[in-house]
Amino acid sequence: MIPAAFDYLRPQTLEEAVNLLVQHGETAKLLAGGHSLIPALKLRLAQPKTVIDIGRIADLSYIREEDGRIAVGAMTTHRAIEASALLEEKCPLLPEVARHVGDVQVRNRGTLGGSLVHADPAADWPAAILALNAEVVTVGPKGPRVIAAKIFFIDLFQTALRPDEILREIRVPVTAKSVAYVKTVQRASGFAIAGVAVVVKAAAKTVSVGITGVAAKAYRATAVETKLAGQPLSAENIAAAAARAANRIEPLGDIHASAEYRAHLARLNTRRALGVAASRA
Ligand SMILES: Cc1cc2nc3c(=O)[nH]c(=O)nc-3n(C[C@H](O)[C@H](O)[C@H](O)COP(=O)(O)OP(=O)(O)OC[C@H]3O[C@@H](n4cnc5c(N)ncnc54)[C@H](O)[C@@H]3O)c2cc1C
Repeated sequence: MIPAAFDYLRPQTLEEAVNLLVQHGETAKLLAGGHSLIPALKLRLAQPKTVIDIGRIADLSYIREEDGRIAVGAMTTHRAIEASALLEEKCPLLPEVARHVGDVQVRNRGTLGGSLVHADPAADWPAAILALNAEVVTVGPKGPRVIAAKIFFIDLFQTALRPDEILREIRVPVTAKSVAYVKTVQRASGFAIAGVAVVVKAAAKTVSVGITGVAAKAYRATAVETKLAGQPLSAENIAAAAARAANRIEPLGDIHASAEYRAHLARLNTRRALGVAASRA
């Protein structure tokens, strides 16, 4: 449980951090809340030569409204999202999901950006980020890049972030209250065995559904969305659509839940989340 030796660097600005990342290349790791990286260091699953601590960069932690969207800085903690009055009013799915993350200690240290880059298949945030059609903004030596959430998650612990890029901010749309997150929890850790985030756009008669914990990466349940497009959200329609929540995916099986059980939970939690979101519309 003792990490291999590494150099520790603490940049004060984002520009300095990008320069250090370019200089040290793939032998370096960024440190945010440390809730995934530090266990990986202790278990020697990660053995970077340099750790670049981005925790003192002031302008990476914020929640603000800009151009009709909400921008959340990558270093914003789960707790800050949970407690944000702005998000509660304008994008209530984020505080709702934050309340599901681990426990209060985890929420006080862990960050939205760290969680998204780590891309744990059982993390809560990816479901919400997908359902919200969020944008992920990165910064690297060639400047900023905007990545749509739907192409950000590549595979187990893999994202579209380049090795010389830092995730800077997540942009989400302003939504109505007709959203929901329903999760079956793995009790020892708090992570999701199956977590489903739903956004209902009542005026457009569309829904978007993001599912985490079930497959190697979080995904949009497009078969569910297509089935419900233009339809009233009756119990029958919801049930018929939710039955498609695990279509064309390969569910993971492990000691916590078999692949069949995860697929079942994806369908069940999709039905429940759609029902809750519809009732809030
Ligand atoms: C006991 C426990 C319970 C937990 N329960 C849950 C849960 O129920 N649900 C859930 O979703 N999560 C859970 N987590 C995960 C936790 O919430 C953190 O979100 C997660 O550990 C990553 O965030 P972090 O800020 O700690 O990142 P770190 O551990 O510091 O970093 C994680 C990875 O992301 C990289 N990184 C971090 N920030 C950036 C950035 N801005 N740009 C580029 N790369 C970056 C790092 O280099 C590293 O590879 C739990 C963790 C623990 C320890």
